[in-house]
Amino acid sequence: MIQAPKGTHDIYGEDMRLWRYVEDEIRNITDAYGYTEIRTPAFEHTELFLRGVGDTTDIVQKEMYTFEDKGGRSLSLRPEQTAGVARTYVERGLHNQPQPTKLFYIGPNFRYEKPQHGRYRQHHQFGVEVFGAYSPATEAEVLSLGYTLINKLNVENVLLHVNSIGCTDCRPVYHQRLKEYIGDRLEKFCSTCRERFNKNPLRILDCKVDNCQALLTDAPMVLDALDEECRTHFEELQLLLTNMNIPFIVDPKVVRGLDYYTRTVFEFIAPGFTVLGGGRYDGLIAQVGGQATGGVGFGMGIERLILQLKEQASIPAVETGPTIFIGSADPEGARQSHQLAYILRQASIKAESDLLGRSVKAQMKYANKIQASYTTILGCSELEENAAMIKNMQTGDQTKVSFEELAAFLK
Ligand code: ATP
Ligand code: MG
Repeated sequence: MIQAPKGTHDIYGEDMRLWRYVEDEIRNITDAYGYTEIRTPAFEHTELFLRGVGDTTDIVQKEMYTFEDKGGRSLSLRPEQTAGVARTYVERGLHNQPQPTKLFYIGPNFRYEKPQHGRYRQHHQFGVEVFGAYSPATEAEVLSLGYTLINKLNVENVLLHVNSIGCTDCRPVYHQRLKEYIGDRLEKFCSTCRERFNKNPLRILDCKVDNCQALLTDAPMVLDALDEECRTHFEELQLLLTNMNIPFIVDPKVVRGLDYYTRTVFEFIAPGFTVLGGGRYDGLIAQVGGQATGGVGFGMGIERLILQLKEQASIPAVETGPTIFIGSADPEGARQSHQLAYILRQASIKAESDLLGRSVKAQMKYANKIQASYTTILGCSELEENAAMIKNMQTGDQTKVSFEELAAFLK
């Protein structure tokens, strides 16, 4: 038997209902916030991710599915979607539209990672991107959108952590301070941290190895190295969040894994993992070939959000069964049942008929299993009368209804 590739999932049945519930809420909220949907290709030129995600990141160095196509081009399955959306912004000239450009996406990403709880080789993200805005109100809007979603879905135990990692002016100052602090202790850090020391020391703060974290206890903080403008920006954001009553903590350990962040970075963190991560990336659009443009966005892992929902006691009840099961007692009745189901479905009523030629008893058993709200059985006498007894499965009440009036009766 051929099995699904390691680190992938089939989503169906009950799970699919939960996915729909989450996706419907995403669409409601993004609509209220004025974000329109974008779908970019699942693969792009590898070069885009080298530039847009950064060639020193784990994602690009270790996790990307890269291949050569039959035309000899180097392509990669997208490990994230921000780079693709940024490419669209530049290539399709979206900066010519009224600014800011506010977009959202839902779709799969691919990363060659060691599969574990909440970590897969194909995962799905809901994400938003705002381009063309530099104000801290932009981060506040994007964060309030993420917060509203998590709240509306009743996801518990998730808290917003925010931080600022400064800009291209003040970050080098911090890098220097951090390198001085680490200094001759560098040998005690893990090999990944030692590599990061010269390429991007900030990301040492992000290391998940306990020993490295212990060595960093008294490390200097990015927040203490911010220049005046970066500090004002971060303070204004905190004021806006406070005014909106959005709970958050300032967490200097949040630095995010990607090279393109400037100033604000944030994560919504649950006990086992980060559900949503993002920030400001004013350098990104230039990085992929456009004019310098302000940008803010986040990516939220849908699998992780759903894992979190499932761990809770109350998973939202979703309606399941059809409105009516139309069974039949003979071939004539069966023909009529299929036609009637067709008419009801055109009126958007959920109707089922028997496709297996089962006995009446077996049909009723099936109707019970699929939780039909009403049932009926058609035979010659029903056809003659052009009406049938409709049974309410909850109360057991039976009502005689003509075929013409059935849709109105069920609505
Ligand atoms: P982590 O530190 O957990 O590896 P990340 O920083 O690599 O996360 P991002 O690239 O910021 O994650 O992706 C945004 C969100 O997408 C994450 O917060 C998470 O919810 C989800 N995500 C990322 N990688 C995976 C994965 N391999 N499997 C499932 N969800 C993922
Ligand atoms: Mg990762």
